[in-house]
Amino acid sequence: MNCFFTNRQNGVSQGPHKSLNLALHVGDSSEDVAKNREILSKKAGTTNLVFMDQIHSDNIETITNKATNRVLKTDGIITNIKDIALCVMVADCIPILFYDETKKVIAAAHAGRDGVRQKIANKLIQKMVKEFSCKVKDIKVYIGPSIKSCCYEVKNDVTDGFEKYLIFRGKKIYLDIVQKCIDDIKEIGVKEENIETSSVCTCCDKDYFSYRRDGKTGRFCGVIVL
Ligand SMILES: [Zn+2]
Repeated sequence: MNCFFTNRQNGVSQGPHKSLNLALHVGDSSEDVAKNREILSKKAGTTNLVFMDQIHSDNIETITNKATNRVLKTDGIITNIKDIALCVMVADCIPILFYDETKKVIAAAHAGRDGVRQKIANKLIQKMVKEFSCKVKDIKVYIGPSIKSCCYEVKNDVTDGFEKYLIFRGKKIYLDIVQKCIDDIKEIGVKEENIETSSVCTCCDKDYFSYRRDGKTGRFCGVIVL
């Protein structure tokens, strides 16, 4: 198993988002994005990259065959097929990778505020259990760079369900969405020692794309492949 998170460095794009932007919809030329995806391919060790057209849903798809340049309208993907790189693109949302070494199953999820509220990570784990007989205690979870509570200011109207994770500083409200995500997956039995969380806040660290910091911006990627 090979898994990693990219940042904005070491790409070729000369467009508005520079360097290793992997998203087609944000204004960089498609040629540059294609070259960046080739760089990603090399790092992943396969040309079978699967991307998601992420729609802030709790939809999760299982991939059962190889095909190149596939894009699925979903926020979670699972496979047990070797040589398929599952890719999740983000710029502040949480990229989550999953691995069951015993059953040799991998997965990737995109968890924004709506995804976390809908417990997409838990639903994905339940699908790994149902479709591949994974045991929750065997599943390792890698939570990649995302916006943290230092920067994630929210308005009152989006705090429903997150009451325990709000931090009040002066008149402002900040949300610790990563902790909420961790607590949810622990609640269904993922072991604490099997959860690895990046300490990077994408909004603080300019090596990463951040929608909150930059508005229209590129996307970096979480990738996992068997
Ligand atoms: Zn920050």
